[in-house]
Amino acid sequence: MKIASIATHTIAASIDKPLLFGIGAFSTFTATLVEVRTDDDHVGIGEAIARRAPEVVTTVVDKLLAPVLVGRDARDVEGLWDEMFGLLRRWGHSRGFVFEAISGIDIALHDLLARAAGLPLFKFLGGHGRAAVKCYASSVYFAGFDEMAAEAAAQVAKGHTAVKVKIGRSDALGGLRADVESVRAVRQAVGPHVDIMLDANGAYDAATTIRAARQLEPLDITWLEEPVPPDDVSGYELIRRNTAIPLAAGESEFGVFGFRDLIERRAIDVLQPEIARVGGFTGARRVAALAHAYNLAYAPHTGFSGGVAHLASLHLAAAAPNFMTYEYFYAPNALRDIFVQPFPEPDRGMLAVPEGPGLGFDLNWELIRQYEVKR
Ligand SMILES: [Mg+2]
Repeated sequence: MKIASIATHTIAASIDKPLLFGIGAFSTFTATLVEVRTDDDHVGIGEAIARRAPEVVTTVVDKLLAPVLVGRDARDVEGLWDEMFGLLRRWGHSRGFVFEAISGIDIALHDLLARAAGLPLFKFLGGHGRAAVKCYASSVYFAGFDEMAAEAAAQVAKGHTAVKVKIGRSDALGGLRADVESVRAVRQAVGPHVDIMLDANGAYDAATTIRAARQLEPLDITWLEEPVPPDDVSGYELIRRNTAIPLAAGESEFGVFGFRDLIERRAIDVLQPEIARVGGFTGARRVAALAHAYNLAYAPHTGFSGGVAHLASLHLAAAAPNFMTYEYFYAPNALRDIFVQPFPEPDRGMLAVPEGPGLGFDLNWELIRQYEVKR
């Protein structure tokens, strides 16, 4: 089972109406798919996050990581991860593009190995006895308060038991006061028995977050996500000590080292690794072990990532200790539904995990070719 080749396919697609949230407007989705083949004809698919300049990730795969991997035994996946990570670690490249490229390869290797073993990935990883995982509806983006409230209520009417709402408005959009008012409208609309998560996408500073949190506490908030930018760890600490609302973060973190400071300083309560950034299954599972050790909740991120990452996260969720909930992205995402099979639909707040070998679904290559960005 020697690795013979590693190919990449960068895909992109747009939605008509941009999604508005704390860091601006978003309408174009991009992802880099990674295809690993072995000399005995096993194939696996992964995804590297590629939000900007996807050719960087592609170059990292081709020029930096492929030379480490080609000719090596795919079954040495964990050691290969350490070798890839070790390549540029001393030169400051232990986050960012390199990590995202490693993530895509690691997901592909796990898909390949699970397919070869004839097992769905979540069982290959050592299943946790979950054939379906708890999920929440993500996300209600900025709009008029009535519109946001109606959208949240519609998700609950569909059977969801938890809904995430975007906050973090700029002053021009009404700032903190508008944020609080929008969440009040949502709570009013969904009633007292639905979980509400809030996500500021790092748009606040610590003082604004504490002011907001004091006003939001009576609304029974399940978590407050990324109130401040990811590198403001002291900000997280300060907020954590000044509110009863649990803090969530991690979609912008890289590997076990990225999460280590946040965890050691008890700065967050809910860890949200993004599998296409955190180092694939190897990185995400090392972070899961930390969640287990520190008794913290684990809630894999999906969001604007492509379908392979959404699916990989679902398998991760089904196999992780301290698992809390999976981000089911109902908002438009042009790159999520890229499989021959339809993406699972939630049923009463639960999402079934595909039972086929590996990731369980097959890419719709006709669609991939339509979306593919030519180099
Ligand atoms: Mg988020």
